[in-house]
Amino acid sequence: MKDQAPLEGLLAFHGHRCWASTAGVRAGEAALRALGVEASGGKSLHAIVEIGDHHGAMCFADGVQYATQCTLGKGNIEKSHRGKLALTLVDTARDRKVRVSYKPTLQPKIAASAFMQKRAGGAPPDEIPEAEQLELVNLVLGAPEDEVLSVGPVEPAGWQPVREVVRFATCPGCGELVAEPYLRVLGDKMLCVDCAGYQV
Ligand SMILES: [Zn+2]
Ligand SMILES: [Zn+2]
Repeated sequence: MKDQAPLEGLLAFHGHRCWASTAGVRAGEAALRALGVEASGGKSLHAIVEIGDHHGAMCFADGVQYATQCTLGKGNIEKSHRGKLALTLVDTARDRKVRVSYKPTLQPKIAASAFMQKRAGGAPPDEIPEAEQLELVNLVLGAPEDEVLSVGPVEPAGWQPVREVVRFATCPGCGELVAEPYLRVLGDKMLCVDCAGYQV
């Protein structure tokens, strides 16, 4: 069994215990190790997670965010909408990348568990008894890495950094702060998307 301590931080970040966020932590840690880098609060890493919208196990992405510190707010994590629990981590400083995917080995056990039966019945994860949450967390946490993860080769990334526009303006319509690229021209005014009536 791996050390449980890091999971307390994951719980604080993610809000409940689940197998998918645990799988995301393991995938994130494996990607860091393959690249030989540490999690970073800067932008030397960029994560592409293959989850989509409105499907189970999207919690994987929170595990990746927790392990790698690639976050929505820093803009260095994105979804590629494939409905898969997989991650490509780019070491932007050295222009290398690695893809790590979660193997389906444990899914028969996970699908048959009390946790997933209750999830399928519509129960939110945080209302499922903690012992039943932990059963699956421990299953994913305790499995040998090659049983649950496929770690690809480290390859050149061809990374193209996108520059940030750091300027802001105050919308004359609503008075709210707007990042400059999101101002829209209406007549002789520069307004926010909402005040200009644009579709996003
Ligand atoms: Zn979760
Ligand atoms: Zn406005």
